[in-house]
Amino acid sequence: MEKIGRFGDFGGQYVPETVMNAVTELQAAYDKYKNDPEFLAELRDLYHNYAFRPSLLYYAEKMTKDLGGPKIYIKREDLNHTGSHKINNALGQVLLAKKMGKKRVIAETGAGQHGVATATICAYFNMECEVYMGREDMERQALNVYRMNLLGAKVTGVDSGTATLKDAINEAMRDWATNIETTFYCIGSVMGPHPYPTMVRDFQKIIGEEAKQQILAAEGKLPDCVVACVGGGSNAMGIFYDFIPEKDVRLVGAEAAGRGVDTDQHAATLTKGDLGIFHGMKSVFLQNDEGQIAPVYSISAGLDYPGIGPEHAFLNSTGRADYVAITDEEAVQAFEYLSRVEGIIPAIESAHAVAAARKIAPTMKPDQIMIINLSGRGDKDVQQIARYRGVNLNA
Ligand SMILES: *Cc1c(COP(=O)(O)O)cnc(C)c1O
Repeated sequence: MEKIGRFGDFGGQYVPETVMNAVTELQAAYDKYKNDPEFLAELRDLYHNYAFRPSLLYYAEKMTKDLGGPKIYIKREDLNHTGSHKINNALGQVLLAKKMGKKRVIAETGAGQHGVATATICAYFNMECEVYMGREDMERQALNVYRMNLLGAKVTGVDSGTATLKDAINEAMRDWATNIETTFYCIGSVMGPHPYPTMVRDFQKIIGEEAKQQILAAEGKLPDCVVACVGGGSNAMGIFYDFIPEKDVRLVGAEAAGRGVDTDQHAATLTKGDLGIFHGMKSVFLQNDEGQIAPVYSISAGLDYPGIGPEHAFLNSTGRADYVAITDEEAVQAFEYLSRVEGIIPAIESAHAVAAARKIAPTMKPDQIMIINLSGRGDKDVQQIARYRGVNLNA
């Protein structure tokens, strides 16, 4: 039998029988709608009229001059409604939920970005929304909890395990299996059992499709290098996907090295992880010697996940994409750099891509082109970066 939802050895559907019914129903629905012209037209319309796509491809002239390497362009996902690429996926999944006749949407969230995007679309479609969030994260991200409430969503705290993102995902899966009739589970990245990694990538691939058209219009040729940050991997898969067949385009993912890959405080999955099965997929995970999922750390809440989407594990194994690890300090320096040089405050997640670009650019030539995916805006991170730098905002 042909194996379903595989990227080489990675991916699959490793879920308990109780979740399998829900996964099978979702897979059938996605197979039905993914090429449906009406569904795709509706999604295009929402991308444009609600999320404000296409996002700009901005020529970063000062950064280009300053680094003295390739011409640098920035794909401005930070300009989307709600401030990041997360809206692309939330729009696609909630629209699918509506087509399936579901009345209720659930989601997991770590820092709250995906929860806010999902709550936003549910408000737009007038659908019931419940977001699972680790109790620990709720305390750290109280403002996003309030924001979700404001948008009409219920936020449910999760106390199990480390009371963070991975536990919120477990709880959402449990809810989904119990309430399959009424409920759609909107996952926030290219992870989980098939069809999620494929479906979320399909809803994000608009980033790369636009970028390809835009760079061809601006420069008449493809870029030499595309750089994106990687948590679960959705913004990176989104910008990479259309460039995968273009073998001369180098693809680079930047994962979070936290306080260093030689400490136990990082989230550099592909740099330090091993093959494993978790959250319904075979992929690479940070684990202890017994195979238990290791606690992870990054200054960036959006990158601090102990695994990575299976398609990235595959691109890494074949060498089609390279993955580098960026420390907290390098990311904060890039956060400050882009703010000062271009007047663009990046999300601290996206700053990991900027940091990788700053390392790679000097190895490239002036007749070459680099595109950085700026996955989100940094307003949400300003307070935390001030604290990191020891600035007392209440003084
Ligand atoms: C959530 C988030 C990420 C990380 O998620 P991916 O699935 O790896 O893209 C990166 N950037 C921003 C701004 C985010 O909100």
